[in-house]
Amino acid sequence: MFDVTPIPALKDNYIWLLRKDASAAVVDPGDAAPVIDVLQGEGLSLAAILVTHHHQDHQGGIDGLLAHAPSATVFGPAQEFITGRTHPLRGGERVRLAAPGLDLLDLQVIAVPGHTLGHLAYYGEGGLFCGDTLFAGGCGRLFEGTPRAMFASLERLAALPGDTRVYCAHEYTEANLRFALAVEPGNRALRRRADEVAAMRAKGLPTLPSTLAVEKASNPFLRCREPDVVAAARARGTENDPVAVFAALREWKNSF
Ligand code: ZN
Ligand code: FE
Repeated sequence: MFDVTPIPALKDNYIWLLRKDASAAVVDPGDAAPVIDVLQGEGLSLAAILVTHHHQDHQGGIDGLLAHAPSATVFGPAQEFITGRTHPLRGGERVRLAAPGLDLLDLQVIAVPGHTLGHLAYYGEGGLFCGDTLFAGGCGRLFEGTPRAMFASLERLAALPGDTRVYCAHEYTEANLRFALAVEPGNRALRRRADEVAAMRAKGLPTLPSTLAVEKASNPFLRCREPDVVAAARARGTENDPVAVFAALREWKNSF
């Protein structure tokens, strides 16, 4: 079982640090310096880098980390350009990494196209590292994929167990929940969550990880079949079909 802690980086990214004894892996290192600080400060050796997609804020630190830990394995999407990638992945694989004398990682790779075409999520030990696909209270923008592809990706993630911890790559929760409340002002679980999140942010605390159960109760992008969400999308001139509802919500959020 690995421990997971956030390393805040850049403007609002989290680089997730997975550690077991003295071995570590990081997910989506957009910057090397804050990771190296933690590795050195805690005497950890970096065994692996996991990348969800090609955007710079998720891989900009790979070069610097490889200079510090040249033997680290770099996992990333096969169909995207990822610096130093040693293990190209397409989804459906199992990523295993045995550090000396122990198993550090055993993760399933899930293809989640939409934000980018090759976007991957990594799932194991009850944790989901989903990059910019599913956010706490929201989802990523559709830079490369269609609404249909992104909706299917989110449904794939939502099918995992409810107690799955959601480790996404950005601290966007507060703004996401403001939008969610515009979609579903009558959702009491959402209102409670928005209050909790506002209190956490006021103290400067990360709002992650979330859980899939919490997301399913309050994230409008996972609620495209709920009557209130459908009605809110229809009021903006769309049809009942969940993909159309999803597309309408994503459009609305872009200009919210
Ligand atoms: Zn991105
Ligand atoms: Fe990002």
